Amino acid sequence: MSDISIHCLGASQEVGRSAFLLKTDKCLLLDYGIKIFGKDGKAEYPLTIPEKLDAALISHAHMDHVGFVPYLYNSSNVRWYATPPTIDLAELLWKDSMKIMGAELPYSFAQYKKALNMWNPIHYGQPFAMGETQVLASDAGHISGSAILELTYKKKKIVYSGDYKMEETRMHAGAKPVEDADAVIVDCTYALKEHPDRKTAERLLMDEIEETISEGGTALLPAFSLGRTQELISLVRAYNDEIPVFVDGMGKAITDIYIKHGKYMKDVNTFRKNVKDVTMVRSPFDKKRATSEPAVIITSAGMVEGGPVLGYLMNVNSDSKVMFTGYTVEGTNGWKLINEGYVTINGQDLEVDLPVSKHDLSAHAGRSDVLNFIKHANPSKVIIVHTDSGKEFERELKEDFGYDAVAPKVGDKIEL
Ligand SMILES: [Zn+2]
Ligand SMILES: [Zn+2]
Repeated sequence: MSDISIHCLGASQEVGRSAFLLKTDKCLLLDYGIKIFGKDGKAEYPLTIPEKLDAALISHAHMDHVGFVPYLYNSSNVRWYATPPTIDLAELLWKDSMKIMGAELPYSFAQYKKALNMWNPIHYGQPFAMGETQVLASDAGHISGSAILELTYKKKKIVYSGDYKMEETRMHAGAKPVEDADAVIVDCTYALKEHPDRKTAERLLMDEIEETISEGGTALLPAFSLGRTQELISLVRAYNDEIPVFVDGMGKAITDIYIKHGKYMKDVNTFRKNVKDVTMVRSPFDKKRATSEPAVIITSAGMVEGGPVLGYLMNVNSDSKVMFTGYTVEGTNGWKLINEGYVTINGQDLEVDLPVSKHDLSAHAGRSDVLNFIKHANPSKVIIVHTDSGKEFERELKEDFGYDAVAPKVGDKIEL
């Protein structure tokens, strides 16, 4: 028996439901998320936790990392740890899941309330101990409050990257690499794909937006409410402070939380000013105005599964264009719109006769940054997670780079 083990309860050879059990002198859960669009379009949950937990550590507030935390509280009294933005964002997103999924969700309102009470704050750069295990969080550069977690036990350092981005974005300065780890559990979403140059991608999107608007249309940007909406507000305003911008969906409330936790972004003053310069859609009148003039509309849902975007899609004029900037899961409306030109609403297929484009503005590390992250950590073990192409990357890391790498399956246990 070794001193440390990692048990993969999700996000292994898949994206979604991140959950890893790290055993040192303590039994620590790293993330506890759900996979919103799993098999047959149904939500999927992590494997059952096989033993008593001492604590849960949550990297950030995306639902694939925090979405299942209330489920811990059917009987357990375990504490969970995350940064202050993460609790505020999680509260909003859990409430929204309860509203959308209702009785389908395997936790109750009482469990949600208890989860809110069992939160403990962690802060970047302030290490703390759980038994003999040291925990240190640092900025992951992915969304507000996102953290890379370093866990040290008996002089061995395990790094859990969560979702991270090293490159600077409009909202975040980017994560710093972690030096000298013994093992890394690393987000490899884009390990096989290089992102295009960020500035070029931004300019391309702006050119399309400006062209659409000059032709009298709406630039309709379906966007995830957490992270992408705020990045797009900043991006559009960085290039153009004149075109009307409307923001709709849960991104509005999330933007308020971003401002409340202003020190978790690069430049809260500029962001605050940018937010003042866009219209948050608060009424039917605002909604009508958004489509009655050439404008940018940034709205959820990012995959066009519900949210105000469906209404806009039906109401924009024929000179309009739909511009995607995020990931779409196969089979969702977003994916169907990009690949087949239709959406399904209430069981009915509706053709959408608008041009659609796709832009890469990812908030995850691209290939060279994944390799960089691993190179800096220089670990004796690389655990590849949060990707569909883990096996291919495992082979490459072993054969071309000489690392002891593994892309585990859900349920696998790794001894360190
Ligand atoms: Zn994320
Ligand atoms: Zn994720």
